[in-house]
Amino acid sequence: MREPESRDDALSAALRLLAKEVRRRVLRHSQGHLLSGGNETLKLDLRLPTAARGKWLEQTVGEASVALDEALRQLLLHRTVFQPGSVYCLRCRSARCEHTQPAQSTEVFAGYSPSGVPLFLEHGQWLLEQKDPRVDQLYHKPPRLLARVTLGNDLTGRLLPAFRDLDSGYHIHGQVAAGWFRFPDANRIDQPLALTFQVVSSQPAKGPKRFGLNLIGRVPGDEPLETLFDRAGELPWAAAAEWAQGVLRQVERSLTRKQPPADESIDKRLEGLLNGLARRLERERRARERRTTHGHQRHREKDRPTWKAQADLAAAREEELLFDTRRETLVVLGERGRAHVFNQAGKLVTSIRCSPLSVERRRKNGIWRQATSAEIEAFKQHASVETRAHRD
Ligand SMILES: [Zn+2]
Repeated sequence: MREPESRDDALSAALRLLAKEVRRRVLRHSQGHLLSGGNETLKLDLRLPTAARGKWLEQTVGEASVALDEALRQLLLHRTVFQPGSVYCLRCRSARCEHTQPAQSTEVFAGYSPSGVPLFLEHGQWLLEQKDPRVDQLYHKPPRLLARVTLGNDLTGRLLPAFRDLDSGYHIHGQVAAGWFRFPDANRIDQPLALTFQVVSSQPAKGPKRFGLNLIGRVPGDEPLETLFDRAGELPWAAAAEWAQGVLRQVERSLTRKQPPADESIDKRLEGLLNGLARRLERERRARERRTTHGHQRHREKDRPTWKAQADLAAAREEELLFDTRRETLVVLGERGRAHVFNQAGKLVTSIRCSPLSVERRRKNGIWRQATSAEIEAFKQHASVETRAHRD
């Protein structure tokens, strides 16, 4: 007879791996820092077959992956008192209207217009407007990373009174505008990226005050922030953002004490947090620059699934060949979330990781569609020429 312990061992091994996968997805999610240091749990819907038939594992892995992403999205929405990646628009009273995100990867939040619309400015413009004496360093070669702290009152100073007092209890305490980070676009050319880290809070009529660190930005190549990981492989601000999120948690906890701290002392603490965040962002950038570009490049290459491109291409079924309607490239979906982007001349442009959910999202909003047989035919001819050229 089998010992009950051994069955428990199998289950605990499986759960340990699953928990590890959850942690991995939190780490690589662009808003994952919101969950750091907390006790949140993920509620997962999982279906398992009672008999191992056919391709059950492949199918279950696909479903579980989608379920994990969806559960994480829900948790992040719940955890945040705002829409991750978007500034709250006071005019529309929404974080989902057309005003909530910058139009360019180089833009940062520059305060509200009198009628409550979020304004964005190129990072250098913003530093000029703030009379930051270091602004010329942005245009040095290589460019410096400059982080600029602005307190809430300076961001809401132009607002008409009608837009100041909100029943939602939304409050912006301040921000750090930081740039340039550098990220490769679809053609692997490094582009400048500026990000805005905002400390905001909201307090429902009868609820507790909750703080959050929100990250606003646009990926080079006009893509939403969530695609950043696909490109970057690692997020250079992750440690600084986690630190700031940890401090916010402490502030939140201090409010539940019998004698909560006065508003002024909280404001002081948050100002210290913003300055600390700015320092950390600038310091991290300098540390990265000291490492050799070569080692960095090699690390990045190793992270990329590029070397599997030809194998995935050869194994791809017709429905795994997609057409990118904006770049007019062919996308080959491989195993384990690999996706390879080829140009029309059959040359591999880049390889990325792409969750089933983000594939689905891109298909839904028409960025990717099924490639036609004619497109596939033309591409395969080019691709085989390209492969032969490589061998010569
Ligand atoms: Zn709006």
